[in-house]
Amino acid sequence: MPTLADIVGEFESIYDPSWAESWDAVGLVCGDPGAEVRRILFAVDPTAVVAAEAVEWGADLIVTHHPLYLRGTTSVAATTAKGRLIHTLIRNDVALFTAHTNADVADPGVSDALARAVGLTGPLVPLLPAAADPRRGLGRVGSLPAPLSLREFAGQAARGLPRTAGGLRVAGDLDREIRRVAVSGGSGDSLLGTARAAGVDVFLTADLRHHPASEFVEETGGPALIDAAHWATEWPWLTDAAHRLASACASRGINVETRVSETVTDAWKTTAECEELK
Ligand SMILES: [Zn+2]
Repeated sequence: MPTLADIVGEFESIYDPSWAESWDAVGLVCGDPGAEVRRILFAVDPTAVVAAEAVEWGADLIVTHHPLYLRGTTSVAATTAKGRLIHTLIRNDVALFTAHTNADVADPGVSDALARAVGLTGPLVPLLPAAADPRRGLGRVGSLPAPLSLREFAGQAARGLPRTAGGLRVAGDLDREIRRVAVSGGSGDSLLGTARAAGVDVFLTADLRHHPASEFVEETGGPALIDAAHWATEWPWLTDAAHRLASACASRGINVETRVSETVTDAWKTTAECEELK
């Protein structure tokens, strides 16, 4: 039976923690390295509903993309949501492990899975290559197999991503032809200038704010913008990460059972225009 230490070792050989940004907090959040691990649940966010799903399924480990604690804490008392989560996990023998910006910049990483989900089929290159290794980096740039209008591409992207209350927001001429596409999973504000310089036809990311987006589309000659739910842009990576971990384990004779949580943990649950999500 593999131990948590075995699984962490396999995962960190795929998503090297040294690739993470200096401000990030990746790795093991709770769990005994000697504990046995058979079932691993993958999710974007370490929230109460995900912990409940792990307990119900009998998971020994949850792998999340987002850290539970990004900054230091002096208490894990069950007086806050995060403290309660830690209590739920320890009481039920569930470990928690995070791969965040080290998974963003991996090859393949979070944005490769996003690119495939929205229909990019050819080679992908980083939008912002990592200084240490240009094969890795933030975001991805690739081409569509055949040109689409912005309207058609947005529809294809919406069908390829998991459904969220807010759907996709699109800025630009809807009849514009789209061939080259840049994508970046999670908040993409900081990559707007890089996407413009890359000469792509559209940049698909999340968490775009009014002023940066408005000023961006006011300038002529730049790409159109598509703003998706943060959770939806990172969720496609979970399947890729689960496959990579399971096959790395299998090659060492370790059998683990993986499952990707389909629980929508995007913060926004509905809009005024659409029916409340069931
Ligand atoms: Zn994120």
